[in-house]
Amino acid sequence: MLRWAEVHLDRLLLNYRTVKELCRKQVYAVVKANAYGHGSREVSTFLEENTDVYGFAVATYEEGACLREAGVKRPILVMSSTLEEGRGFLKEYELTPVVYDFGELSLAKELKVPFHLKVDTGMGRLGFLEGEWEELLSRLKNLPVVGVMTHFSSADEDREFTLRQLEKFESFVSRLKREFPGLEVHAENSAAALYRFNNLLTHCRVGLALYGVPPEEGYPELSQVMEVKAKVLTVKELPPNYPVSYSKTYRTRERERVAVISFGYADGYPRELSNRGKVLINGKMCPVRGRVCMDMTVVSVEGLSVKKGDVATLYGEGITFKSVSGKLGKIPYELMCSISPRVERVYFGLQKCNAESSAGAV
Ligand SMILES: *Cc1c(COP(=O)(O)O)cnc(C)c1O
Repeated sequence: MLRWAEVHLDRLLLNYRTVKELCRKQVYAVVKANAYGHGSREVSTFLEENTDVYGFAVATYEEGACLREAGVKRPILVMSSTLEEGRGFLKEYELTPVVYDFGELSLAKELKVPFHLKVDTGMGRLGFLEGEWEELLSRLKNLPVVGVMTHFSSADEDREFTLRQLEKFESFVSRLKREFPGLEVHAENSAAALYRFNNLLTHCRVGLALYGVPPEEGYPELSQVMEVKAKVLTVKELPPNYPVSYSKTYRTRERERVAVISFGYADGYPRELSNRGKVLINGKMCPVRGRVCMDMTVVSVEGLSVKKGDVATLYGEGITFKSVSGKLGKIPYELMCSISPRVERVYFGLQKCNAESSAGAV
């Protein structure tokens, strides 16, 4: 294998416990987009077997069906699709839709499936706007509403705005609860879990933090679950003043030893890391030379003992998704989601966790 992503499930377990301790609510683990690149089947079945996770949240019906086929039994919330798409899946796979406009509401009524409502308290994306709440409440009689949610736009950067969103949400929920007292109520994502919101909320929806990426400063310690690695295809010594990679954006000064790594932008290594990125080989940071290519990247290994077949870490110890995304003006979500399917996922830490759980520690 020349390129792979290690997924450390023992770290996922630690992060889960940290999140649970922080939000003190039932947890919907957000596993959309293949669990942010970590493998939604493996992540979900692992959490179901080893934790008290309440359920899972996905974006599409296909993602939900895939989890059921992998054996997931707990609730699955489909957050951003349409009931038209869901028709063929809902009952067979027992998926719970999110209803966010009147068109969806009519279809939910027709299909007679339990659903969550979504209200827009300042995200400007999916959800009923405040001006529609009166009509919405009047149309819900005898419908199987089992949950209500909203989404924060700026939990990691604007406390005041987030509190205003929460206040709005509370005003809607308190009215809705008169008719549906046993509702699931949820709003928090990873960043908002830090607010330790009150008892009105019964559940949270957490993704990023589970994967070990802190959404903001001051977050409890997490451990990055994924490490991305690739092998050195060859090592060579380039002559002075020799160009490296497309468009000759780098030129050696002296003779320079370089290693060619079998990982490129098609694998999910951002091309913006051309002449900027660093990879770790045998414990030493090696700077990227020239443009990142589709399948390969050249790094300097001048003065280091590196040979063909050695392993380079592209993300992992000392090279977190958080730090690299910050450097590029991206967000860690983008980097995780772009690790391509060509990069095989290899799962670690299962045995460790199984030993622990049979000892009654989980
Ligand atoms: C993706 C998503 C989440 C999870 O957000 P994180 O920042 O990864 O914790 C929660 N709620 C909704 C509606 C989402 O789309």
